[in-house]
Amino acid sequence: MPKRSNDNKYWVGVDLGGTKMLVTLLDQSFRPYARKRKKTQAQSGKDAGLTRMIDSIQATLDDADVAPEQLNGIGVGCPGPLDLDAGIVLEMPNLGWKNTPVRKRLEDAFGCPTVVMNDVDAGVYGEYRFGAASDARCVIGVFPGTGIGGGCVYEGSILRGKNGSCMEIGHIPVDPQGSLCGCGQRGCLEAMAGRLAISAAAAAAAYRGEAPNLLATAGTDLSQIKSGVLAASVEAGDKAVEKLLRDAARLIGWACAGVVNLLAPDRLVLGGGLVEALPDLFQEEVDRSLRKRVMPAYRDAFTVVTAKLGDDATAVGAAAWAEHTRQ
Ligand SMILES: [Zn+2]
Repeated sequence: MPKRSNDNKYWVGVDLGGTKMLVTLLDQSFRPYARKRKKTQAQSGKDAGLTRMIDSIQATLDDADVAPEQLNGIGVGCPGPLDLDAGIVLEMPNLGWKNTPVRKRLEDAFGCPTVVMNDVDAGVYGEYRFGAASDARCVIGVFPGTGIGGGCVYEGSILRGKNGSCMEIGHIPVDPQGSLCGCGQRGCLEAMAGRLAISAAAAAAAYRGEAPNLLATAGTDLSQIKSGVLAASVEAGDKAVEKLLRDAARLIGWACAGVVNLLAPDRLVLGGGLVEALPDLFQEEVDRSLRKRVMPAYRDAFTVVTAKLGDDATAVGAAAWAEHTRQ
């Protein structure tokens, strides 16, 4: 443990998800110092949810014997549409939140500057500052999980839209006749190559008897076939599942070729649940299909790397972005 002193300054990063919230207290150099993980309670609505977040931050400070006056700032990363300038979560259906003034409530409670940002942007910024993409001029982050998140850090700043975040890589159209996506359109990348699409196809393969190991461990229940289960099935020799995953990774690489042709990044970071479970498979297939598909001038101008910060990326990145915006 670092020596404690009242002169020490700290940061707080919050990774707010649909089912859990992870509060991380970070030291001056953004090294995690204390953590608290809480389940979010969907049914309780926005006031109870905000109170729960404030209580979790306070409890993390109390456990570490840090006073609110010692906080430099707070960064909150969350999914869903945001008003970035006002620090408002416009909608988070999983939590029953609508027009939730997260920044104001946290600033009132802790008396320090607070930023609210997209969770994937925070993760990519974390990798840019402290992880797999440090010193890159243009970083593209691609995080395949249930959906496929994307973000871009360009010359040290997060690329954003007028009011909210941008880089919805998961909603790049890849097939006009493809499956229906959660956004209402057909054939988006995440509808074709996200974890839900892969798991649904894997469940069908198990049902047909083509993935015996998967059938034995998880059956054909879609909700049981998560990233770790898919990885274990490949490890145990289910060739049909391995093919589904390689096809999905290749499609992600194919779609990302368009992003590389637009932005000419020098680093592409792969992260998220599926990549954490199968890092070599994703790195290999995305890299190969990308290089085959991009314009010749860009072919050797970038590297594909795997994210390094794991579960800490969003909290660390959000806190570091709070520092960036304070300057
Ligand atoms: Zn979509």
